[in-house]
This record gives sequence, C-alpha cells and structure tokens, in this order.
Amino acid sequence: MSEARRLRYLGAMGIQAWAERGAKPAPAARPEPAPAAPVVARIAPVTDAAGGDVVRLDWDALRARVAGCALCGLEKTRTQTVFGVGNRQAQWMVVGEAPGADEDRQGEPFVGRAGQLLNEMLWALGLAREEVYIANVLKCRPPNNRDPGSDEVACCEPYLKRQVALIQPRIILAVGRIAAQNLLKTDTRIGALRGQVHRYADTGVPLIVTYHPAYLLRSPLEKRKAWDDLQLAARTLGAAAG
Ligand code: SF4
Repeated sequence: MSEARRLRYLGAMGIQAWAERGAKPAPAARPEPAPAAPVVARIAPVTDAAGGDVVRLDWDALRARVAGCALCGLEKTRTQTVFGVGNRQAQWMVVGEAPGADEDRQGEPFVGRAGQLLNEMLWALGLAREEVYIANVLKCRPPNNRDPGSDEVACCEPYLKRQVALIQPRIILAVGRIAAQNLLKTDTRIGALRGQVHRYADTGVPLIVTYHPAYLLRSPLEKRKAWDDLQLAARTLGAAAG
C-alpha cells in the first residue's frame, strides 16, 4: 500500500495529525506485553456440545450446518445466518459479537458504517479486508440487537471454534466487549482486557481486545486507543513469527 493511502486510512482513525508530521506513534503508557509464546503448531480438536460432529466438518459442511441451524431459538427471528467471510488461510481473524440489522439483511459480518470503519482500521495496518477472516460469536442476529444470551453463545460456540481450527489464524482480534468477554470467558470490563496478550481457549492463538467500530463511531476520541490495540496485535504477530 502506498504511504499516502495508508495515511488516508490513519486519518480515518483520527490519527492523521501525527502521521502527517511523520512522527512515530507515541509509546503506550502501559508496559510492553510479554512476547507471545509460539502458537501451537496444530490446533487441537475442540469438543463441541451442540453439534457432536462439528469438530470434523469441512468448510462446506460447516457452512451448511450453520445455515440450517435451529439450536438456540434465534433462527425464528433471523433473516439468514451470517457465517463469516474472508481468507480461509488468514493470519488475522477478526471476531465480533453478532450480526446487526445490516449484517442480517446482507448475510455478511461487519457491513454498513461499522464495517467501513473496520475496513479502514485494517487498511491502516496494511491489510485488505479480503486478507483476514471475519466472523462473529453468534451467527444469527439477536432481536433488536440485544446482547447475546449465555445459552445462545454456548450453542453457537462450536461453529466459531471449528472456524478457528480450520483457519488456524496467527492472531485473533476480538472487537467489542461482548466478543471479548465471551471469547475469554470473563466478565472483566473491556478497558481492563485491552493492552494484554490473551489466548483463545485452549488453542494458544494470541488474542487482542479492542473496541467495536460501532462504539468508535459514537466515541471517535477512542480511535487512538483502538490504534494502540491494532499495533499491539501487529507486534504480537511479528514476535510470534520470530
Ligand atoms: S445463533 Fe448459532 S446456535 Fe443460534 S440458531 Fe444461529 S447458528 Fe444456531
């Protein structure tokens, strides 16, 4: 990507001023995280409580299983399932909460204004949307965009775990409080989860927490923190690559 284009996307994240001056990003106030431990060479099969054989499904069978899923009740109100999109050999995996109205209508995660900002965040890192894999914790939209229920997350979790096992990403970016708390099985607030290198479940895959683009649209002053998170993710991936 050209430097001019990168600066344009940095500008979209609210960090144009220092970028145009050519200054390096300000050092983070928090201490540097410990270097990432190597990702396990082969992600262990996951157990699944919902589908029994989900751990053995290939991409086509997994997509078909999700498309016909009626495990948690959200099938009653969805327009369609939102399986996930992107590069199945991606190094980066982005995981959000659940489809919203636009996603439910289009069948793709992170579309609309929040999706556009996510694309710009990725571009600022030098990544095209097509280079990463994007999915949600839930594959169906909760009515009125309410928070996912714990039972719904438990029902849907095997699908995401299978996606992670198939992709074997080198890093996972959990965007938003709901995604972060469900992926990490914690109720810790998002501010305390940011700035650390977590691990996703039993996979060993590094996981970085950042704000949801929809939140950043409402709170643009937080974009700088999101940029810090993206840089932490890039450093973590770089450290893991040795
Ligand atoms: S949210 Fe997940 S578990 Fe619930 S119906 Fe949709 S695909 Fe099935």
